[in-house]
Formats: sequence, structure tokens, C-alpha cells
Amino acid sequence: MNLILFRALVLFFVMIPGSCYYAQIKDISPVLPSPVVYKRAKGNLYLPKKISLNKDAFPEHMIAQLDTLLEKIHALETVDTRGKAFIRLRKLKNVPKDFYSIAINDYVFISYSNEKSLFYALESFIQLIQTEEDIKYISKAFIQDYPKFEWRGLHLDVSRHFFTVAEIKKYLDIMAFYKLNIFHWHLTDDQGWRIEIKAFPKLTSIGAWRDSTIINHFTSEPRQYDNTVHGGYYTQEEVKEIIKYAQERYITIVPEIEMPGHSSAALAAYPEYSCNQKKQSVPGVWGVFDNIYCTKEETFVFLETILEEITDLFPGDYIHIGGDEAPKTNWEYCINCQKTIQDNALLNEKELQSYFIKRIDRFLLKKNKKLLGWDEILEGGLSPNAAVMSWRGMQGGIIAAKKSHYVVMTPGSHCYFDHYQSKSKSEPLAIGGYTSLEKVYNFNPIPSGLSSTEAGFILGGQANLWTEYIPDMNQLEYMAYPRAIALSQSLWCTDKPEFKSFSKMLYTYHFPLLDILEVNYSNSSLKPSIDFIGFNKGIRIKVNSKDSSDVFQTNISEDGISKNKTFTLKANHYFDVQAKKENTVKTTITFKNLKNSITSNVTLKNHLGLGAKITFETAPNPQYNYTQSVLTDGQYGMRPWRGHEWIGFDSDNIVFEIEFEKKKKIKTVNFSFLKSNGSWIYLPNELNIYKPSRKREKLFAKSTIKTEQTEIKINRRIRKLRFKISTHKKIPIGFPGEGHTPWTFLDEIEFN
Ligand SMILES: [Zn+2]
Repeated sequence: MNLILFRALVLFFVMIPGSCYYAQIKDISPVLPSPVVYKRAKGNLYLPKKISLNKDAFPEHMIAQLDTLLEKIHALETVDTRGKAFIRLRKLKNVPKDFYSIAINDYVFISYSNEKSLFYALESFIQLIQTEEDIKYISKAFIQDYPKFEWRGLHLDVSRHFFTVAEIKKYLDIMAFYKLNIFHWHLTDDQGWRIEIKAFPKLTSIGAWRDSTIINHFTSEPRQYDNTVHGGYYTQEEVKEIIKYAQERYITIVPEIEMPGHSSAALAAYPEYSCNQKKQSVPGVWGVFDNIYCTKEETFVFLETILEEITDLFPGDYIHIGGDEAPKTNWEYCINCQKTIQDNALLNEKELQSYFIKRIDRFLLKKNKKLLGWDEILEGGLSPNAAVMSWRGMQGGIIAAKKSHYVVMTPGSHCYFDHYQSKSKSEPLAIGGYTSLEKVYNFNPIPSGLSSTEAGFILGGQANLWTEYIPDMNQLEYMAYPRAIALSQSLWCTDKPEFKSFSKMLYTYHFPLLDILEVNYSNSSLKPSIDFIGFNKGIRIKVNSKDSSDVFQTNISEDGISKNKTFTLKANHYFDVQAKKENTVKTTITFKNLKNSITSNVTLKNHLGLGAKITFETAPNPQYNYTQSVLTDGQYGMRPWRGHEWIGFDSDNIVFEIEFEKKKKIKTVNFSFLKSNGSWIYLPNELNIYKPSRKREKLFAKSTIKTEQTEIKINRRIRKLRFKISTHKKIPIGFPGEGHTPWTFLDEIEFN
């Protein structure tokens, strides 16, 4: 291309509207995780189609990966040269661990401290390359970089759902692209044993397969199963292949073999190592099971034989042995377990768990390995060489660090990627919880209150992907990305940019990159939120966006007929939809942020009570108090229930008042309750509607509740109503949650 044409093109790009948006982020490095130092210089370095480098200076596998990514993302290739190379290298000494720097001037100059840091430099190099039409360039800059934490982990549960070798490799590829360096491979659990053990073939011939899997949330009733065989396992040859693949990406694999709990699959294959020795099948339902390993001598021989093969296979320092959620029910009644308690002068079953872990710890130590377990391994005393993975909050990690044990922080609040990432109704079914992208971004594995020496025992952090509700790779990527990039920011960056810059970087640069890499990421955390606020004339649709420059368009259809109303508004504006007699409003909002547009569909039910003011005398439980206006916003909650869009009470008497702006003729009031006994949510007993009065309340109507939808006739002109709902005092014996106060859940009260 000649220079004049080239300049004309550049000028053209500067003038298109999108590029002024781009100009705002120019001084932030496009590399994620964000480098420690990024200093922009004037001008760009334009890339040749063939990038020359001295291939002998790189490990072969590194060049192979560089070529693959350059070709796939940028349609560029490398070429070997003995002369002046486009990418030049220099090895450094006496710099921070895994340090590298890149100077981009008239060529690319990489300084690195070890092979791993050279790899990181190349990943950054690939992300630095920008495209405008067919022109590839890197902004001239100087980068200095090294990780803050040495443990930047991503976990994967392959037991609840099995993932193929090819899928694991893709998972590792994307991890490496974002400089995550620990792959915690959860290989065994109740619902499937997934690794070949030569000494015990039944672990995979029986333990790797289940006949059926539960459909919907496991608290849904009645329980339904898919009646389809699910399973699979990795042969030791495949495991070796994956280990090598991970090593070539500077990722250490931490295998997890669960004990003494979460062992149903192993015990289905070898029931002789359970307390009751009863035959059982591999379960297809989620949860915690009482049937765990018996602590008799034969079990230790069995487990140590398994661990012998595991330690021979995996080169990493750590072996994860689980240790979580092990009910002691069977141990209490087992002659063998009670004998172990007596023989070893233990106080109780908690100490027996500690004894169990200590024995395994001693064995691993002999094999030159370190034991890692979930924070339950603190129970009954921590084994001398054990490291703790703190998942039930950070407290377990704090206790362990204070006792000079190494810790990996993975609290459910910030690191459980099987939780929902937005409150949108279109999210796929998840286990529960809410872990937004921003929350992950703000994760700090060092809790306050630790001395600097104690904080030194915190190795880093990790996100966990439990796959009860993640059936395939598509959904796995949806749950993992972009949250895993936010995690990498929180674990790599010395001083990370503010969340707003990060989210812009995702939209403008990394989402398109993930598209090329064929990763099914979610953009739901960054979608503008849409509030539907009822008011007396209809519904007010308010769009809240993190970015004030966002522009969106709206199409509204009423009663299924599109009115072709198109609005173009600035963010944080609202518009009103007038209510008709009875109609359903479907709103499609298209959000335009450069190349990205997002559509949200919400069906709204118009009724006379929209926007009516609610005053609660009985406070809803703060955990289930979606918004104050949720009961009169024209929206119904999701079924199966997901925790959002519902108001939940945990008291046996619920009182509140609803007030309209002016008197209205109301014929009926329709209540919408939730019945989900598995979650201890029951229908209430009785509902009373009063005319409020300071002197004496007047009862308008009364009804017993038999179904989720209850209609009550009123037939009056009113302005204000008072409601009293009474429930069972306690959940009856024989029902889930027996003896506790039942939950009462409501999503909408419709006035017609
Ligand atoms: Zn036992």
C-alpha cells in the first residue's frame, strides 16, 4: 500500500464515530490481565505479514502456539531469520518472579527472566496487536509486567458432567491466553469417577457411569430424571497428554481425588470400602451423601494404591484430597470406625476425620507431594503439611494462615462461577447465588487482619466451576468467561484499572477476540439493567447503563401486535408505556455499544395496581428482597424459582399495606405465591384483606390458600388495602425442613 492511500485510510478511521470512542481507551493497555507498567509513546509500529524471529531462541511448542494464535486472530505468520529480527529477545537476571518487559519501537524487544515469562510476553504481544481494516499495528509503548500472586487458578468439575480431552484442551488454551496458571481438575465425586486407575478397573467400568441425571434444579418437585446414561473417563494415556498440553502452556494441574466424602461413585464400584458395604449405584442427583469411605485399614490400602498411581502421573507439587462435606452419620454407627477411634485414642468423629487426613498426608509426604484440601480439613486439627483451600468464606483460610499453613482463597462469595452472573431472566439455570463480574473484579485474596508474614501464606486465589447445572462446553464457557478474565485481573495486577475501563476493554477488544477464539462468553454482567417501574398509568421503562454514551433503541409490542415504536435515547432515560384495559407488553431493547447490540425481552402484565406503593409492616428477609416494587411491577418471577424477582418472608405472620394514587374500582385481587417444598417454601394458610383504619379495621375479604394463584373478589372503590397472611407456625414432620418456619414467597399482586 502506498503511503498516501495509507494516510487517507487512517484519516478515514479517525473520522468514523466509533473511533472517537476508541480514542478514550488508547492509553490503557489492551492486554488483559493489565500489565504492571504500560507507557504509551507516540506513533504505531505497523506489522509485516511475516513476522521475523530467531526460532532457535524459543522452545518449539511456544512457536507452534504463537503461529496458531497469530494465524487465527490476526492472519499473520512468523518466519525464521538469522539476521535482524522483528521480535528480539534478551534474558534478564535479578528481576521479580516471572518478570518480562516489551519495548515496542521500530521493532519488538522482549526481555524475559525465564521460559514461562517469555511465554507470558508472547501472549501479551498477541493481545497488543490492533486491527483497522486489514492494517495490523501495535501502539508504540513500553510494558513491564509480572504477576502479583503465584496461584491463579481455575477449577473444573468433570464428575457432575464429563468433558472430553478436546474440551479440556480448549479450556487450558483460554486459561493460558489470560495467564491463569493452575488447573484444579476435580476428577472424582459422587456422580462419577473420571480417571483410569490400573489397580482398580471397576472405578471406571462401574464408577464412571450413571443411569440417569436429575432435570431442573434439585430442589424442584417432583424430581424428574432424564433416563439417559451419562459418563466417561480419561485413560492414563489421555491424562499424560493433557498434562503435557498444560505444561506447554505453563499451567500446573492439581488433581483432586475426593475423600472421605463425595465418594459414592467409588463405593458403587467397591462397596467393601464403605461402612455398611451395601451395593449401590452411581447417583444421578446432586447433594451430600451419607455413604462415605469407612476408616478401616483396608480402605487406606485402597486409597493409597490409587494415590500411588495419581502421584506417579501428575508432576505438580500438590494433590487435592477434597475433605469437604463428609457427614459422620455412618461412622457413628460403624463398628470398624468406632474401633479406629478407640485404637487411636480419638475423642470423636471429627478427630477421626482429622486422623484420616493426617494418614493420607503422611503418605503423600513420602511421595514428595503436598496435601491440599477444602477448609473442612481444619476440623479436629490440621495436618502438619496440609494447605487449605478456603471456600466457606475466607475464615478457614485466615485460621490456616495464622497457623503458618499455605492457603488458596476461593470464597463462594467471589469465586463460585456456578452462581448466576446477572439478575436477568434469560440466564440459564444455575445452582443459585449471584456472583457478578464486578464482584469477581474486586476480589482480593488477602483479607484484612493478617500480618504481612501471615499474608505471605496466601498463595493466591481460584474460581471454581461445579458442573451440576453446567451440562456442556458451551455453558461452561458462558459461566467462566468473562468472569475468569476478571479473576485474572484480581490475581495478576499490582494495580488494576477501574472496573469501567476493564468493561470497556472487554467490549471493544476482548469480546471480539473471544469471538475469534470461538469462546461462548456471556455479556450479561455488562448489559444495561432495565427497570420496569409500575406507575398509575402504566409502566415506566428505565434503562440504567454503566456507560453514559450508550445508545439504545426500543421496540414495543402490545398484545402481540408490534406498534413499531422505536426510541433512540441516551442512557439513564426512561419512557412510559400507557396501560390499556388488559394487555401484555413485550419490550425489546437493543443496546448499541459500537459493534455490540443486546436484546432483552420482558413480558409485562398491565393491571390497575401497577406502581402502587407498598408499606411492609413485616420486613421481607433481606436475602430475598429483590426490589420494594417487585409486587406491583407487572412482572412474574421465574419458575423454577431462581431467587430473583421474588419477595421472601420467613415469619409466620406477614402484614403489609398497598396504596394507590387515587381511588380505584377494584373487582379482583390476584395473588401469586410460590410452592417449592424442597426449598422449604410453602403456600400460606390464610389471607385476609382489610380496609385500614386507625380505630377498627374492616374485613373486606378472606380466603384460604390452596394453589399458587389465588383470586379474591373485592368489588369496591378503594385507595388503600391492608393484607394479613398467616402461615403454618412450623413445617410439619415428614416434609422438607420439618420443624422450621416455612418460607413464603410472592412475586406479584394483580389488581383488576
Ligand atoms: Zn466405617
